[in-house]
Amino acid sequence: MINPWSSKQYFDYNKLKKDFGIEDLDNYFNNYLFQRHLIFGQRSLDYIEYALDNKMKFNAVTGLMPSGHMHLGNKITIDQIIYFQSLGADVFISVADLESYATRNISLEKAREIAINEYIVNYISMGLKPCNIYFQSNDPDTQSLSFILSNETNMSELKAIYGFDDSSSILHINSPIVQASDVLHSQLKKFGGPVPTVVPVGVDQDPHIRLMRDLAQRLRIYNVKIENNKISVYIKGRDDPHEYIDSAIGLLEKNNYETEKNYEYRSINIKNSNINDKIKIDLLLGNLEKDYNNFTFIGPSATFQRLETGLKGGKMSSSVPDSLIALSDSEENATRKIKNAVTGGRKTVEEQKQYGGNPDICPVFELYNYHVKENEYVQRVYDECRGGARMCGACKKEAAELISTFLKNLKDKSDESLSKIDDYLINKSF
Ligand code: SF4
Repeated sequence: MINPWSSKQYFDYNKLKKDFGIEDLDNYFNNYLFQRHLIFGQRSLDYIEYALDNKMKFNAVTGLMPSGHMHLGNKITIDQIIYFQSLGADVFISVADLESYATRNISLEKAREIAINEYIVNYISMGLKPCNIYFQSNDPDTQSLSFILSNETNMSELKAIYGFDDSSSILHINSPIVQASDVLHSQLKKFGGPVPTVVPVGVDQDPHIRLMRDLAQRLRIYNVKIENNKISVYIKGRDDPHEYIDSAIGLLEKNNYETEKNYEYRSINIKNSNINDKIKIDLLLGNLEKDYNNFTFIGPSATFQRLETGLKGGKMSSSVPDSLIALSDSEENATRKIKNAVTGGRKTVEEQKQYGGNPDICPVFELYNYHVKENEYVQRVYDECRGGARMCGACKKEAAELISTFLKNLKDKSDESLSKIDDYLINKSF
């Protein structure tokens, strides 16, 4: 079982993909995070590719928990969000202030201060353009939607997914529903939905992704399925299906599909379709359905990122301050942490020269791999390490200089970024 709340570091990504049905990536996205397999898998990312190919609106959604310092390990998520925004995504970011109040005893005022100063200002300095950032405590859409989504699941299901038991708090049990609501609410009609929506996550968040995809599906009237390499549509619910079927057929025929309807079975067979039509038909019918159903959602897509290893090995964790570099760290402190990091180097300089180091297990190499965009530079570091031409001391010094420059740039931009904050926040008052 993958546990979204554990501090476990997952290393065997191939096994996780196999066990949980996470799909491989194709080469669609021309971005270093994809090219270096730092994003190692996906669910239904073809919806986003379809939206891009057809110049359609799509969303990119993430959340932040305002409970501590943002650190380099959190950065890959916002790097992706900024990348998807550069491709045209509407960005939604939820500040989980209620969660930090309930689980970390952080007041809403303090959570707001942390969210703005530790996270959002850095996001802006890193290149995030104006978007929709909101606080859970002050967002009636997500609160109402949580209520609706709660009606679509039950304890047996949540126990099976998350291992909850009788001692689990109601808040804990409710938190996956709130997360689903955070993602799905970006597709409400008022935001131009339903639309394909991508959520970049670590693999430990996959249970949330599976649950929110299921919840989205359960709320749909038009259920689009592949059967015998053709597309069939089933009408859910107990309402008279005539209007749903007739209006769907009108739309499908306008799009040159030949249909066969069956009112008794509440179904439409699309005779001249194949499996490649599923996304198009699902989106067409989702768009039609919103006239009948206020809660029409397209199942969210996800990218799965590898978790950056802590400087002491294992997961980056705020309970081990030297395992991570906070974006608020001084340059001196960051340099000290990198100098004290574990490496994939040999015991002696002679051995390193003779046999080379192992960048594949080295957290210092990960600093280059995750945070330097230029592929040739990172490849050179890798090759020099493997070939014995790079010594760990000099390599750490170089990495420390790169990270210090990055931190300094963020600090230099922080006042200007803070002055733009109103362009990013929705529901600005408490
Ligand atoms: S040379 Fe650099 S990349 Fe290679 S093991 Fe040493 S610190 Fe890691």
